[in-house]
Amino acid sequence: MAKEVQITVCIGCKGRGFIEAAASKVRASCIYCNGKGHTAHGSTLNEADETLAFKIVWDYLNGKTKGWYH
Ligand SMILES: [Zn+2]
Repeated sequence: MAKEVQITVCIGCKGRGFIEAAASKVRASCIYCNGKGHTAHGSTLNEADETLAFKIVWDYLNGKTKGWYH
């Protein structure tokens, strides 16, 4: 049974493979696609988890590693 693998442009980095923080200009490899720029459909992350993960890495890039959840 063949399972079709759908490749989609990564929503985290929009296909660039990295995320850049506007304030600090720090770049980090995209956590969704590991820098590949796309994601194979069927990720174990659901939409809510992706949103949370994106907020975490975004705050990290902007130097808010402490207390982001308060
Ligand atoms: Zn990505």
